[in-house]
Amino acid sequence: MPAQPDLHTHSAASDGVLEPAELVVRAVAAGVKLLALTDHDTTAGFAAAKTAAEGLGVELVPGVEISVTWGGRAVHILGLGIDPQCGALQQGLAGLRDYRRWRAEEIGRRLAKAGIEGAYRGAAALSRGDLVGRTHFARFLVGRGLAADVQGVFKRFLTKGNPGHVHGEWASLEEAVGWIRTAGGQAVIAHPGRYRFSRSKLIRLIAELKALGGVGIEVVSGRQGADEALMLARCAREHGLYASAGSDYHGPEYPALELGRLPPLPAGCVPIWSSWTPPESPRAIPA
Ligand code: AMP
Ligand code: MN
Ligand code: MN
Ligand code: MN
Repeated sequence: MPAQPDLHTHSAASDGVLEPAELVVRAVAAGVKLLALTDHDTTAGFAAAKTAAEGLGVELVPGVEISVTWGGRAVHILGLGIDPQCGALQQGLAGLRDYRRWRAEEIGRRLAKAGIEGAYRGAAALSRGDLVGRTHFARFLVGRGLAADVQGVFKRFLTKGNPGHVHGEWASLEEAVGWIRTAGGQAVIAHPGRYRFSRSKLIRLIAELKALGGVGIEVVSGRQGADEALMLARCAREHGLYASAGSDYHGPEYPALELGRLPPLPAGCVPIWSSWTPPESPRAIPA
């Protein structure tokens, strides 16, 4: 039986563990027929993933997960179906990667002040070098024995109130949605439950996304309970948004999020992929 579409995955081009080609092969082996590669702030993995996907019976959707600052915290906006060649998008992403470079060095400096030397170099060595994220620091510190797992490092070192925390300054929502739309893609709010927003704040984010031309919300995501999917499905219906689904896969080290295991979208959602392969005419977003 084919697995559910998976429209949110990471490769080693950002903070995933697998190379883009390995990710595609693993997704295919798990029965995934519709897959989006959505690395943080880069599309560098897409070409290799595309080549790997040829002839394997999987449709590979070009995507990206853009880091945004909204409402005082980091919010992630997925761009699905983007043209990776789009200049405006690439310029925007390059700016975010410049910021990431500074932030990674700053995290390294702060950890050094807390007595942990060499963290920047260690984290960079676990990345391709051009995009060092907090996950790379987390893996490095786990290797140093400073925490049992990646989550433990985030909790003790990288989140607010801890020694390696740096307040992120990412793109505005308007910029991110603008780049995605200029690149011909659809803007989707990633893992809405992860922000722990109040209902009214989530509705404000949805309203702003829609006003800017965003069209979707991730209703099913990895690390999420069934109740949350139902709440988000209702939200998508009430606000006329397409529903997306994605594991947020980062590699085999997170078995809870293995590829091919996503539950289906709750009934009554309009799947975002229904807008891509129209049988006759595109299906309207419900009013
Ligand atoms: P960054 O974009 O570099 O700030 O890092 C964000 C990434 O860190 C997310 O995409 C997750 O992969 C990872 N992450 C964030 N919070 C946690 C957490 N509490 N436990 C494990 N991984 C996390
Ligand atoms: Mn990540
Ligand atoms: Mn994310
Ligand atoms: Mn992600």
